[in-house]
Amino acid sequence: MRFLFVTLFPEQIEQAVSHSIIKRAIANGLIQVSCINPRDFTTDRHHTVDDTPFGGGVGMVLKPEPLVTAIRKAKEQLPEARVIALCPGGRTLKQEIVEEYAHSGQDIIFVCGHYEGFDERIFNWVDEKLSIGDYVLTGGELPALIVMDAVARFIPGVLGKLTSAEEDSFSAADGLLEYPQYTRPVDFEGLVVPEVLRNGNHAHIAAWRKKQSVKATYRLRPELIPPELEQAILGHFPGKVSKTEKRFYAELRQELEEEGLLHG
Ligand code: SAM
Repeated sequence: MRFLFVTLFPEQIEQAVSHSIIKRAIANGLIQVSCINPRDFTTDRHHTVDDTPFGGGVGMVLKPEPLVTAIRKAKEQLPEARVIALCPGGRTLKQEIVEEYAHSGQDIIFVCGHYEGFDERIFNWVDEKLSIGDYVLTGGELPALIVMDAVARFIPGVLGKLTSAEEDSFSAADGLLEYPQYTRPVDFEGLVVPEVLRNGNHAHIAAWRKKQSVKATYRLRPELIPPELEQAILGHFPGKVSKTEKRFYAELRQELEEEGLLHG
């Protein structure tokens, strides 16, 4: 997959992709990263990319001419790419959007704003506006890097053979938060790794992890609990279920009630 950043600060992108997993993914040809700088398409002596807003107000607005020329150049290089403008007012990034981008396999052109943002007319050359959350940063480079990083994790081979993005928090698999993870030592300053994780019984480990995952989600992000899961915990199943599954949900309900996470 190819990611092209339209940015006034290509060094910020180049620096960020020169470490760890993303650096390796580029070296192994799994992803490609490049930049186009709108400043290279200015025609005046001062290479002006911004100007004061019509109607008055503070700050500077990115001019349409260099930005649109840069987007057109980007489209020449990646004709099939999705063009995403990073904007605080865009739709908010979520794991399902990340997975949608990754599974589409479509290249992405990120258009990074700065100062007070874009001249509105620029959006005629953009497919969608994307935000990384309800707060405002100084530029679109960090948001674009976040999107690229999250998408790249789903490209086969990027995380290596040993781990899968599909099992992380929020993933389409179940949409829940991840269960707690532990590594050696078994005893750290009196804090001991749960026994179940050390006894090698994979069915018990899987059941424990599923319960912990549900509990963490109830505790921290209850709005993420899918209605069908809540129904199963309450003993209502849409179809036939095995005795083992019924017992699992009954135990889970009891534990949630004991921990004050489920009321009623
Ligand atoms: N005046 C704009 C507004 O109120 O929406 C804010 C402009 S912001 C200071 C400059 C640039 O940073 C934006 O054009 C955008 O590219 C980027 N940016 C800032 N916060 C962002 C966010 N939460 N998500 C995505 N991009 C963001």
